[in-house]
Order: sequence, then C-alpha cells, then structure tokens
Amino acid sequence: MNKFVIAIDGPSGVGKSTLGKALARHFHFLFIDSGAVYRAIALQALQQHTPLDHREAVAAIACRAQVKLEGDPDALRVYLDGQEVTQAIRASEVTRAASVIATIPQVREAVVEKLRRMADASGVVMDGRDIGTTVFPNAPVKLFLEAAPEVRAQRRWLEERNKGREVSYEQVKAELVERDARDRDRAATPLVKADDAILIDTSTLDLEKLIARVLEIVESRG
Ligand code: C5P
Repeated sequence: MNKFVIAIDGPSGVGKSTLGKALARHFHFLFIDSGAVYRAIALQALQQHTPLDHREAVAAIACRAQVKLEGDPDALRVYLDGQEVTQAIRASEVTRAASVIATIPQVREAVVEKLRRMADASGVVMDGRDIGTTVFPNAPVKLFLEAAPEVRAQRRWLEERNKGREVSYEQVKAELVERDARDRDRAATPLVKADDAILIDTSTLDLEKLIARVLEIVESRG
C-alpha cells in the first residue's frame, strides 16, 4: 500500500498532539500518539513492580505488551493487554517512568516495530520524538516543533490545572526540562530534528495559524 505519513516530532508541550489531531481530522488520516505506547509499557512495569533500571525485564514487557489505540483523534482510547488505560497512562509517575524506559534501546526497537504495524492506513499522522528520524525516515512530510521551555511548561501547567491537579508551575517546568534532557541526551535514537524536517517554532504561533501553515506544506507535497 502506498502510505502517506506526516511525522511530527519535538519536545514535550510543544503542540505536537494538538496539531497532529487537527491534521488527522482534516485529511481523515489515522492519528497515532507514539508516546502513549511508551506510557503503556511504563504503566505495566510500574504495575508489576519491575525496577525501571532492570533493562531486560522492561524490554521483555515492551516485546510482550499488546498496545492498541482506538477511536477518533480527539477521543483516542488506549488499551494495554485488553484493558483500557487511557487515563491511567497520564498519571505523573507514568509520565516520568515512560521517559526513563524510553532510554532502553531494546524497548525502543520493540516500540518502533509496534508503531509501524499500527500504521496500517493509507494516511497516517504520527507524533513523537523519533518518527521522522527512525520510525518513518521516508515520510514525505516531517515537522519538527520547537518552543521555549517557559512556554511549553506554561501550556502543560494549564493542562494539569484544567484536569484539577494541584501542581506548581515550577514543578511542571522542572519535570519537563528533566524529561527533555533525557530525550535529547539518550544514546538510542535521541530527540533530534531529521535533516529534512521543517522546523516550526510554536512559541508565538497560535494554533489556527500553525494549522493553516502546515496544511499548505502538506498540500504542496501531497
Ligand atoms: O509524548 P509523551 O509525553 O506522551 O511521551 C512520553 C515519553 O515517551 C516521552 O517523555 C519520551 O521520553 C518517550 N517517547 C519517545 N519517543 C517517542 C514518543 C515518546 O522516547 N516517539
């Protein structure tokens, strides 16, 4: 099948999933949130009390775990071995654990394989950290989003507050900076812009402008 993939990469809180969902809706493409797969594996490791630095045990979980994403881009449901974990994978300890287990090369290999298998549609939007460099290096459209850490932390803090979570801006920012550093500094497929990805700074762009700009880019390559 001739697949059209839009790869969106960048650090946390930069607007990848908001943009990805809007594009998937617009083009009637499948939306795949790759971070949800790392989160589901991290959740299983936590549930089974597997120490996150036991690389082989965590890699075994990554190979075995059945992760499914279902539903519309705006109401994506995540299943782990048949159980819905859509909410559970958003807990803050899972967020941190996902970023830790994502440094394990064998975990990454297992996830890349799952992601490629999930992308069985003619049009796919996938967001993550290594989509344009590793998962779909031949994607015709690659976007790399950036924004100042303060702006990203502010967005994440507002999201947390909207979910009713009591957390300070400083804490959100510290955790975000820590996770970013782990993603950028890891040896295995770190967070890096693909040479042929288009760099977009979302610090000051509002969403409508961002979407309009990206639609132009995609249509020029379609
Ligand atoms: O995107 P999200 O914050 O849900 O991802 C959770 C974690 O999974 C990230 O902090 C990152 O460490 C990891 N991840 C990754 N590669 C991807 C997607 C996510 O390393 N393609």
